[in-house]
Amino acid sequence: PKTPVTLLGLGAMGTALARTWLAAGHPLTVWNRTAARAGALTADGATAATTAAEAVAASPLVIVCLLDDASVEAALDATDLTGKDVVNLTTTTPAQARARAAWAEARGARYLDGGIMAVPPMIGVPEAGGYVFYSGARDLFDAHAATLAVPAATRYVGTDPGHAALHDVALLSAMYGMFAGAAHAFALIRKEDIDPATLAPLLTEWLTAMAAPHLTQTADQLNSGDYTTNVVSNLGMQTAGTPTFLATAADQGVSPELLTPYFALMRRRLTEGDPSEDLTGVVDLLLR
Ligand code: NDP
Repeated sequence: PKTPVTLLGLGAMGTALARTWLAAGHPLTVWNRTAARAGALTADGATAATTAAEAVAASPLVIVCLLDDASVEAALDATDLTGKDVVNLTTTTPAQARARAAWAEARGARYLDGGIMAVPPMIGVPEAGGYVFYSGARDLFDAHAATLAVPAATRYVGTDPGHAALHDVALLSAMYGMFAGAAHAFALIRKEDIDPATLAPLLTEWLTAMAAPHLTQTADQLNSGDYTTNVVSNLGMQTAGTPTFLATAADQGVSPELLTPYFALMRRRLTEGDPSEDLTGVVDLLLR
């Protein structure tokens, strides 16, 4: 028999998660603040609880996927968590996840936090490549590994309940940096007779080629403490090149505001450091 699952939260993500457990044959109890959102799921076999307390009481495994940490507290506050396995897939900060873990454990629960690296259409579609970071109670993760793997692949990143959220935010932060660079690139060609549709695959190919060597080298240098490079483009050379980027932006009538903060950090590191370093020193400048 499949583990009974309780799911609190039937927004876009919660509903997508719910469908996969139903399809996999797990007895599913759902609760949502706005009760009407449970209608389609109950028609497909889910049980709708009228209160969060009733939903929590129905299953040993309680999955929470609500808007934010405040809504998690609001939903769980009047429930009995004694002996429950609580898996919180709500996006929060690492600090909020750690505090929520302590809060749940003080109420007698085991707690696992999750960061969903997927959008709802990727849930239940393994080939879409989405997955969920998990951190916190290892025994909970192991006990429910198969059930947790139903909506998306799982990646356990340690016992610190804040580390799933931290991985989630780290990956998304890097993504926004990449999106910022792409926005600048598209702006550069916008007034020219260049089709953005021809630039897009070139950007994809270039960013893909640059990503792995850069990221691996950065990690290796952070680990070794030796930031010098004799192989690739050093900081002196790269900083000397920045006026070309800024002049091109000016010529094309494009604001440099997405590039200048990074260039400023490169220059500062060059002033304070060693021109034969690569870009890794920027990481240290960000730490305070
Ligand atoms: P939605 O906005 O679609 O749904 C929000 C859910 O939270 C609803 O069930 C809503 O209930 C409930 N809610 C909001 N405030 C409260 C409250 N005070 N008390 C009780 N319930 C409350 O969000 P999603 O389903 O898309 O997202 C849920 C979580 O998943 C978020 O943390 C989000 O960051 C994360 N996530 C979402 C992704 C996405 O692409 N959608 C991707 C990755 C993570 P009601 O129906 O009553 O309003």
